[in-house]
Amino acid sequence: MRTMTVVGASLAGVNSVQQLRQQGFDGRIVVVGEETHRPYDRPPLSKALLAGRADVDDLWLCDEEDQDELGAEWRLGVRAEQLDPAAGRVRLSDGAEIDTDGVVIATGGRARRLPGIEDMRGLHTVRTIEDALALRAELTGGAGEVVVVGAGWIGAEIASTCHELGLRVTLVESGEVPLSRTLGDAMGSVFAALHTDHGVSLRCRSRVSGLTNVADGDGRRVTGVWLDDGTQLPADVVVMGVGIQPVTEWLAGSGVAVDDGVLCDPGCVTELPSVVAVGDVARYRTATGGTVRHEHWNNAAEQSATAIRNLLAGSTIEHYRPSGYVWSDQYGVRLQIAGELHQPDEVEVVDGSPSDRRFVVAYRRSGETVGVLAMNNPKLFIRMRKQLAGRLATS
Ligand SMILES: Cc1cc2nc3c(=O)[nH]c(=O)nc-3n(C[C@H](O)[C@H](O)[C@H](O)COP(=O)(O)OP(=O)(O)OC[C@H]3O[C@@H](n4cnc5c(N)ncnc54)[C@H](O)[C@@H]3O)c2cc1C
Repeated sequence: MRTMTVVGASLAGVNSVQQLRQQGFDGRIVVVGEETHRPYDRPPLSKALLAGRADVDDLWLCDEEDQDELGAEWRLGVRAEQLDPAAGRVRLSDGAEIDTDGVVIATGGRARRLPGIEDMRGLHTVRTIEDALALRAELTGGAGEVVVVGAGWIGAEIASTCHELGLRVTLVESGEVPLSRTLGDAMGSVFAALHTDHGVSLRCRSRVSGLTNVADGDGRRVTGVWLDDGTQLPADVVVMGVGIQPVTEWLAGSGVAVDDGVLCDPGCVTELPSVVAVGDVARYRTATGGTVRHEHWNNAAEQSATAIRNLLAGSTIEHYRPSGYVWSDQYGVRLQIAGELHQPDEVEVVDGSPSDRRFVVAYRRSGETVGVLAMNNPKLFIRMRKQLAGRLATS
């Protein structure tokens, strides 16, 4: 193989380039990135950058020197528009074509919008630097009342940052408690209390049915949110934190199967052995026969090691073993997760107390610890995470 094309110049894309070099690929690497920025880190977008505690310059994933050392061609501000595997070619939005022997799909996701809700001023999502800066400008430019829709990780972090900026915040969640699908109801209640104890108005079991708005110049501006029970919440700013949509439309007609992500085998290889997928866009088959797609930093950073090994080998010689490590910062509290956390598992507090917001909880299945959740307790968390990783490696 002489040329590799990495589509998507963010966390998973950069790690793929690094892995290609570390694993001995000395040919041509072309990185195609739709954004004009060099690769940057997204977690601060809902935290330090939004709060004004960090600048854009704190976000770069690697400095220019490190980027140069990788010896790749960076085609930034250009979109891949078509993959033609038979011809071994990627077509770009600027009309260029790249002849390539292998392709790494690292196109991540874009922020989802609720269906039927049209774009208007004051309505935001947070996925890019531009999104975060535009939201920050409104939050610090006289907004008083903010409604955040969705109390998942990103919605919760945005609510926390708005609180930090002194704004009145309402957080709307369709589930019984925040994060119940990921953490279960008991731990979800701990997160509900984290919001309400900081004065955030949390409205669970509520769905948004529309936005109220007024004419504003040549467009409209949001003034509030209608909930399905008829309640109207006033809002100067509305932020949607309702998940992401994997970016796959450019693969239409390529023969690469997609279904809420790029479908791949347990080694991140698609039906075409010369095409692999990594990061938020990759939906891989698990040992139990299901498929899973992760939307977390560590997955995007770790998955490329396996995907590139298989790409360079020309077949799947290794399966991906996710560490399942996730973190989040909200209201000055650090949350850490490792392994698998599912609703039916038994949940046991092994240290501290949820009411003190310093604890470690073990998630068990048939008596075995399968996951760990910690709040402000990094030492014990790290110990338990290592034990868990050791057990998973030998299982
Ligand atoms: C606000 C926010 C906060 C977060 N906080 C945390 C956190 O605290 N902890 C955690 O574990 N995770 C967090 N995450 C998730 C983490 O940032 C993502 O999992 C990670 O960014 C995924 O990386 P990726 O490279 O797979 O995809 P992305 O970061 O989405 O990058 C994909 C790139 O591909 C580009 N692209 C798309 N289509 C094309 C195309 N056709 N041609 C060329 N380029 C294309 C996109 O423009 C983008 O630059 C957060 C994410 C966000 C948005």
